Amino acid sequence: MQSFERLLLENKAWAHEVMLDDPDFFKRLAKTQTPEFLWIGCSDSRVPANKITGTNPGELFVHRNIANLVVENDLNLLSVLDYAVTHLKVKHIIVCGHYGCGGIKAAMGSESYGILDQWLLNIKKTYAAHRDEINAFPDGEERVNMLVECSVKQQVINISKTETIKNAWSGGNLPQIHGWVYALNDGLLKKVYRVIKPATGEMLVPPPIAIHG
Ligand SMILES: [Zn+2]
Repeated sequence: MQSFERLLLENKAWAHEVMLDDPDFFKRLAKTQTPEFLWIGCSDSRVPANKITGTNPGELFVHRNIANLVVENDLNLLSVLDYAVTHLKVKHIIVCGHYGCGGIKAAMGSESYGILDQWLLNIKKTYAAHRDEINAFPDGEERVNMLVECSVKQQVINISKTETIKNAWSGGNLPQIHGWVYALNDGLLKKVYRVIKPATGEMLVPPPIAIHG
């Protein structure tokens, strides 16, 4: 059997198991989706959004790219964001980075990765803005992980500045925007940042709520 055929076999087994457990599951989901969360995560195969959050199909609206970036002219991400917020009315947006992220590591070095360099420029900008803070740590894993956290914060801020969020906040208090980081070595998520609609209703970037631990 070729490796891809295993996926098809596993799929059959999974669908069968779900049907046994909940015979209406697929019928229900086929009609509509009402996810409460938009998940923006890294494409890394070790950070599967549903699995690490114990969520089922229908619960997370998902966008993934290298190093979970929110880039202001990325039409793909902006479309996902707008659909999730304006039409699906998600209550929470979670930007989830992960320690040891290859995209972050690559952006910290000087090696060229071809077409990817353009994408990594976005991370290099965040690194430049926090260089002193990050370089206070020993070279290696700790620096990478500091930039992982800084970058997640930056992406949360980037989302809060989009037209989609400004529009949503002009009519209500949702969504909240969360920045989390996943640890590959213990499977746990850490909250690092959160932005909610400012109480004044001003459409400025609200002060962040720092979360420690
Ligand atoms: Zn990554």
